[in-house]
Amino acid sequence: MTVYREVAQALRNARRAVAFTGAGASTASGLPDFRSSRGLWRQFPEALASRETLEHALEERYEEMRAFYLWRLENLKKVEPNPVHRILARWEGEGLLQGVITQNVDGLHQRAGSRRVLPLHGDLGSVRCHRCGRRYPPEALEKGPCPACGGRLRPNVVLFGEELPRDVWDEALTLTLQADLMLVVGSSLEVYPAASLPRLAAQAGKLIIINREPTPLDTQAFRALHQDAVEALQAIDKELLRMPPSS
Ligand SMILES: [Zn+2]
Repeated sequence: MTVYREVAQALRNARRAVAFTGAGASTASGLPDFRSSRGLWRQFPEALASRETLEHALEERYEEMRAFYLWRLENLKKVEPNPVHRILARWEGEGLLQGVITQNVDGLHQRAGSRRVLPLHGDLGSVRCHRCGRRYPPEALEKGPCPACGGRLRPNVVLFGEELPRDVWDEALTLTLQADLMLVVGSSLEVYPAASLPRLAAQAGKLIIINREPTPLDTQAFRALHQDAVEALQAIDKELLRMPPSS
């Protein structure tokens, strides 16, 4: 039996499977990841995404941060969901997945049709005032500051030095604790606290990891596939289509 068939079988047999995705799920859409050799944090200083800069930097540094996020928003307009997003959305629709927990802020799972998406690190496609919390459409970041209070505008993502949104985290944790299978796609599983969810899932049930590079949780996984996410998901999907529907 091929590893794809084994994974397909495990998915089919699971009662409450959940997906967990990272930057590697979106690279096929043309978005850069963060920590590989061509990743975003090899090209830009992490200070562009820190609460420290937002709260304490002089105007010039804050302007760099604003330009960085405007550039990323601009990139987001040019990309489309790829087969990874589409297959995961379809599996959810077929009842094979309960939902998607994601480290990504690009909104591509939602655009592909996934209904239950838990974006642990927020959503790049919305903007809020850091001082008063008012929400604005992404275009507001071009103008800034906050028309209501004069505060600095920011993307609605989790910056370095900030905590994860409580409500999203709680729901993701519940989903993880109930899961008998977690399918990790395109995450190096090195960023915490997000990576503590697959760690928990491995203790409670089966963990399946699809990532180009080895991860620290590979030894705890039922299967770890070191390959391209699109290729792997398409191969698993093909096996699922060959199987008789579960009763
Ligand atoms: Zn404000």
